[in-house]
Amino acid sequence: MNTLRLSSFNGGGNRRTVVTVDGVRVGEDFVVIAGPCSVESEEQTIITARKVKEAGANMLRGGAFKPRTSPYDFQGLGLQGLKILEKAKRETGLPIVTEVTDPRDVSWVSEYADVLQIGTRNMQNFSLLQEVGKVKRPVLLKRGMHSTLKEWLHCAEYILAAGNPDVILCERGIRTFETYTRNTLDLSIVPCIKEVSHLPVIVDPSHGTGRLSIIEPMSLAAMAAGAHGIIVEVHYNPCEALCDKEQAMPPELFAGMMRKLQVLHSCMKQINGGNGSRSSAGIPVIHDQPIMGSILLNSGGRL
Ligand code: PEP
Ligand code: MN
Repeated sequence: MNTLRLSSFNGGGNRRTVVTVDGVRVGEDFVVIAGPCSVESEEQTIITARKVKEAGANMLRGGAFKPRTSPYDFQGLGLQGLKILEKAKRETGLPIVTEVTDPRDVSWVSEYADVLQIGTRNMQNFSLLQEVGKVKRPVLLKRGMHSTLKEWLHCAEYILAAGNPDVILCERGIRTFETYTRNTLDLSIVPCIKEVSHLPVIVDPSHGTGRLSIIEPMSLAAMAAGAHGIIVEVHYNPCEALCDKEQAMPPELFAGMMRKLQVLHSCMKQINGGNGSRSSAGIPVIHDQPIMGSILLNSGGRL
């Protein structure tokens, strides 16, 4: 039985989904979401928002509800944080991506968020998935840090089955034996997702690596792997960040990375021959060829 009824490529009518957020089309071109890990103050968020906008970001990220490993760490500003994000949107025009952690908060947080983020720790919080499935807001579904592709797509399925067609997947690194990086960024999942699903897939190189020095190469690699975008943590003053300071990009580095992404973007267009499915030499580009009725879909839906 095909248990990925709505998230598989066939389930999407053999067409790729494009999720439109205030005119930004996720799934069509390369989208950059940037901003602080958490909203800490009006000054921090608005200055950072202006800088990422100047550098060419398409959306602003920022957590008002922070699911922290320790209960004693900064947990986010809640409603006050959402109001700051609203102000940052008014100033910059950037749509807001922000996390929701509790099913009871979904409907009122949707009044501030343009995209509702489900974090890695909540990927399999099924009541939360059902709740975001009921609202008219796109959902950014992060991959659980211990989850397989199949488990992840089944979580997307919960949201789709509840009535919300606008799901964006986000690879953010998985736990492996490696300790040099915070997580192991599984870029191979990007072409795998594109083989079996119509949903857009973006990459989070910040949580995926936890190391400032490798965010740029991994962002470029994400684009080369065919991702539909990235979500990156940028802070106007990383040394003072209340959350994830080791991976916070200062705005100047972010702007430099954006310039390199532009260059690579032109190369990718040439490689894909402009239509996204063939190289200019006429060689099929594997990662843009969905596999119908793949092994994944024939394996009975067991996890
Ligand atoms: C985040 O993006 O703010 C975040 C907490 O990410 P993750 O859920 O991937 O750890
Ligand atoms: Mn973070």
